[in-house]
Amino acid sequence: MAGAPGATFNPSNTIVNRSLADAFAADIRAWIATRDEAALIRALRSPCSGVPHDVAAAYAVIASRVGPLIDTIGRERLALPAPDRDAVLRFAARVATVNETTEIASHFELPPQTATNDVDSGSPFELAAAAAPDERASVRARQTHFSASALNAYAECSRKWYYRYVCSAVEDPGSSASTYGTAFHAALEDFHAEFPEPSAEHEAAMRTRLEGYVNWAFERFRADFDTAVEVELQKRRAQRTAVRYVDWLLAQATRAPFTVIGREIAANLDLDGFAFIGYIDRLDRDNATGAVTIYDYKTGSIATSAAEYRDKVREFRDFQLPFYYWARTATGDRVTRLALIPLKDALLDVQPISLEVVPVAAPERTRGDAALGTITVADLERARARMIEICRDLTSGALQQFPSTTDPSACTYCAYALACIDKPHDERERFGR
Ligand code: SF4
Repeated sequence: MAGAPGATFNPSNTIVNRSLADAFAADIRAWIATRDEAALIRALRSPCSGVPHDVAAAYAVIASRVGPLIDTIGRERLALPAPDRDAVLRFAARVATVNETTEIASHFELPPQTATNDVDSGSPFELAAAAAPDERASVRARQTHFSASALNAYAECSRKWYYRYVCSAVEDPGSSASTYGTAFHAALEDFHAEFPEPSAEHEAAMRTRLEGYVNWAFERFRADFDTAVEVELQKRRAQRTAVRYVDWLLAQATRAPFTVIGREIAANLDLDGFAFIGYIDRLDRDNATGAVTIYDYKTGSIATSAAEYRDKVREFRDFQLPFYYWARTATGDRVTRLALIPLKDALLDVQPISLEVVPVAAPERTRGDAALGTITVADLERARARMIEICRDLTSGALQQFPSTTDPSACTYCAYALACIDKPHDERERFGR
């Protein structure tokens, strides 16, 4: 414990300012008025007491156990080097002689405080004047290419879009769920390169080869999983789902033979001067009619019915399949069906959420929860117009604010959740503690 022998003030070089001196004086006055031990201990521990910090802390602890601070100091309960002992005894002596009429600053030899200098002149720090806040400025999207997933992010939560595409605030490290999706996509891409025309006659080979492709894909992405156990669990889940995928392929091929004409193919589209890019998971051509179906593999949660997915498109909450539709239509394909293939749950049969593209809305012949439904060209045109509108907004330079979503479910897997102070409160967590 070190202290300056003759120092009566701030021997440990702690910065002392007006508020510390005021607080010290208030504590001493409280002690004078009510013999408040807590106030006296606070005064002892103040840099204004002249007692080194560690000595003051030690006496505070002893006094809290054995009784009045001044008595504890008087009994010299701590064996201290002479300078520290002198400092603490000096403090006790001053406390013992202070009363209501005492001028505390001079009695405890506090340095003079001036109105303009809150910080002790010996302080190594100078407080700078507060800087004026920056002018609020607008933000302009810097992308040279847009994607449907960027617009989906914007539609889901514009704050999320801002974090991801303007700030690049946090790199999303991904998760085992996203790596599962990446690996499964890769396995199916390889599989359909070998089996572009699935048929019952190749069933055994298809099953064996898909199992191999899944194993190989999960090996390739092994490093992206957190643990070896995670790799195994996710691979087995993919294997079980792959069995159901082949079941569905065979049933589909029996009903209407088809050829896979594209896997992970680039979809480029110019929408009113805004360049869009994306990748289509799978493109099929019906062998009898030549009609094209666009498939998107989904390894996360998706709409549970065709009507639900169509509502998302109509409400401009999902642009993925509309974008693919217009990209392939621009190349001359006759696209008649848009479908999401759910590959998340190994316990469920693969049952795509499928929308037939129709020229005009017809009365629905299916239940609202059916996997099959229709979507009109007008719906897809509105989605396209909205995509252009959003791009205009994002590139206009007029946007100054990016409100956070009001839907707490959007935040569940958001990579920015920790940094986002405006995220909505999730009612489900109300009783979570
Ligand atoms: S935590 Fe929620 S509100 Fe915040 S950016 Fe993410 S999705 Fe938006």
